[in-house]
Amino acid sequence: MSSALNALRVILVGMLDTEKRELLRGLPAVDAVLRMPAAVALAACHGTNATTAAVREALGRARREILAGGEPEASGETVCVAAAKLLSGRGLRRVINATGVVLHTNLGRSVLSERAMEAAVAAASSYSNLEYDLATGKRGSRYDHAVPLLKELTGAEDALVVNNCAGATLLALSAVVADAAGTPEVIVSRGQLIEIGGGFRIPEVLELSGARLREVGTTNRTRLSDYERAINEDTRAILWVHPSNFEIQGFTESVGVAELSTLGLPVVADVGSGALLPISDEPGVESAVRDGAALTIFSGDKLLGGPQAGISVGSSYWISAMRHHPLARALRADKLCLATLEATLSTYLEGTALEELPTLEMLHAPPEAIREKADKLAERITSVAPDLLIDVATSVARSGGGTLPLFEIPSYAVRLAGGAHDADALAGKLRLADPPVVGRVSEGRLWLDVRTLLDGDEDGVLRAVEAVSG
Ligand SMILES: *Cc1c(COP(=O)(O)O)cnc(C)c1O
Repeated sequence: MSSALNALRVILVGMLDTEKRELLRGLPAVDAVLRMPAAVALAACHGTNATTAAVREALGRARREILAGGEPEASGETVCVAAAKLLSGRGLRRVINATGVVLHTNLGRSVLSERAMEAAVAAASSYSNLEYDLATGKRGSRYDHAVPLLKELTGAEDALVVNNCAGATLLALSAVVADAAGTPEVIVSRGQLIEIGGGFRIPEVLELSGARLREVGTTNRTRLSDYERAINEDTRAILWVHPSNFEIQGFTESVGVAELSTLGLPVVADVGSGALLPISDEPGVESAVRDGAALTIFSGDKLLGGPQAGISVGSSYWISAMRHHPLARALRADKLCLATLEATLSTYLEGTALEELPTLEMLHAPPEAIREKADKLAERITSVAPDLLIDVATSVARSGGGTLPLFEIPSYAVRLAGGAHDADALAGKLRLADPPVVGRVSEGRLWLDVRTLLDGDEDGVLRAVEAVSG
């Protein structure tokens, strides 16, 4: 069979012009590329099969380029580089978070619980009553799911879940100013005109909602009288925003939701992080509701420890206005979000959130347990990478995700240095491992903070370090 294929190739190549034939002949053989040190290193990280496939693909691309009239540079080295690119960019995949940032937005924020995963599998692999009322056999509403749980947990009259918190804020403001005659105004303190990240800026979101921004106070100080003076017949609401990702310290003054609620206008409170249990001095969702916010808005995948979601809880009147606004359809949550959110919320109701939710577990694990984890990992790494300098150091973990910017969580890191690698090169190689390991470089060493390692991650770290050392 292969001789027949070869004969066919000879005929086909014979039909090509000499120049293309020369270029094709100049391409290195798959085996020769796989024997090169760079390819051997790739195989150590990604496995022989994946590396062989990537080298074949890289050579195939070069061949197609030649046939199309191009003259690609295709030495053994360039084929290895192309194969490495193919291997590293294989879509969305698991990553080991050794940064010590628990809610790392770039690494996917919260990690879901087993219970949430089971709910996701059930919702994904079968039909569900997503929009179907089983009692009446008629159409139901996806907006009804998770609502009873949210009402019970926050004490609010009603709730609505959409795609994310930025979307919920836009929807809430749009609903509050809808149908208003003239130019509806929303009052915000200058100390709260923030950018959350990813281009989400409060003044721009307000503009998008159709409201005119009415700024009051100054960056560091805003008083109740500033709000009072700004109220006029066009005022529709007061927006209170938690300045999640920064803190102003020193000569400051701000007005809380409770006082704002005395002004007779709906208060929209964007509390962001969605802490249902106390942590540091983070404003809890429940207290905003209790303080009288008409709408309290928060993320599902920050301190709540659930899926990406934008949750609004508040008065029946304003939640209903949000539900009926056309934007609600554009921002609606999908069934996987609703299933995993319900599973996450039920752990709070049952009092098992701290044990069941990986995010909360990582945030609250006692330093002694983290120290032990670091010592064990350091010992295992030392046995597979004798050429590296390895020690354990105290480290500071963070909650991340734009929450609690000044909150330092005592932690421990395994530090790697020495051998033939500088810390940046070592970090780069670990990022190319399978699964990739993401740490941070500081003081000339690579720090692997173990607070954010999940069960079983140590084996991945070990394999990655073993592959790059020596
Ligand atoms: C994080 C945050 C948001 C955005 O939340 P997403 O769920 O990422 O859309 C909005 N407002 C505040 C105050 C936040 O902290």
